[in-house]
Amino acid sequence: MSTQPTTGPRRLSLVTPSGRPTLGNLLGALRPLVAGQDAHDCFVGVSDLHALTDGHDPRLLRERTRDLAALLLAAGLGRSTLFVQSRVPAHRQLAFLLECVASSGELGRMIQFKQRRRTDGSSRAALLTYPVLMAADILLYRPTQVPVGDDQRQHVELARDLAVRFNRTYGEVFTVPEIVVAPAGARVMDLQRPTEKMSKSSTDLSGVVGLLDPPDVVRRKIARAVTDSDTGPGAVRADRAAKPGVTNLLDVLVACGGSAEGISTYGALKRAVADAVVGVLEPVQRRHADLLAHPERLRAAYDAGEARCREVTAPVLAAAEAAMGL
Ligand code: AMP
Repeated sequence: MSTQPTTGPRRLSLVTPSGRPTLGNLLGALRPLVAGQDAHDCFVGVSDLHALTDGHDPRLLRERTRDLAALLLAAGLGRSTLFVQSRVPAHRQLAFLLECVASSGELGRMIQFKQRRRTDGSSRAALLTYPVLMAADILLYRPTQVPVGDDQRQHVELARDLAVRFNRTYGEVFTVPEIVVAPAGARVMDLQRPTEKMSKSSTDLSGVVGLLDPPDVVRRKIARAVTDSDTGPGAVRADRAAKPGVTNLLDVLVACGGSAEGISTYGALKRAVADAVVGVLEPVQRRHADLLAHPERLRAAYDAGEARCREVTAPVLAAAEAAMGL
């Protein structure tokens, strides 16, 4: 079903099925991935294992994994090698080997661990060790470059450190990937709190456009977006510091293919943004619904992707095992 180009530098991206994907995820992460498919050999995974590091509901996780898998395909990633992380066992197998190379001290220093751990010691042990799984996710595919956002930089640095240490201790197995700063995708802000990023983990969804929100919900959320009390001529203009709400609406409008030319009131701006966003979401939602109605198509794409992942990762895992004396 998917026709993956197998040439070009290899690129790997994982999306965790936590929360409900937002317009921010589409414009900031999925769109750049879709655009990168022509020049790269892209692997895009649903990282269901990473969703286990904190309290989780198995039924909900299964549902979100399936939904996100369908969304990736619906968003246009059919030319990438799509996979669900837990279906490619090498990820977990290599993770333990790398845990034998990592130190507990360096894992304890990870910023995300320090931010997310509970102070009473009841955090899951996996919250400490998941960066090693992430290192395995990366190193198994021997990518030469790993594009990262700022929040993930430390994790890729750990992957590099572990690769260097493994190669030095047990022999050359891993490619040490170069970190490249991902080209900035559009940054979408919350419609009610426009100085904060629109986030799928928000508890208040009034300012969050879900990728699967029906058109009337999208229109209502955009109609209620926070702007400001400046109603004079020239009020519709970008100024991130003084007019964060209006600036965000203008950014979203442009990112969704619209234009603010000739628009002079906030009401007209919001209607234009709503039309543009609904226009972008509609085909994605239609393809998503179609995939859920025809699960065999979804399965075919992921079966093919997972088979390729197993093929690519098996020799790397085997080389690591052999080097360690297993
Ligand atoms: P997260 O939803 O935080 O797990 O992020 C998944 C991906 O979507 C990352 O590449 C983020 O940078 C991107 N992303 C999440 N929220 C936004 C947003 N509001 N605007 C732009 N990109 C976003």
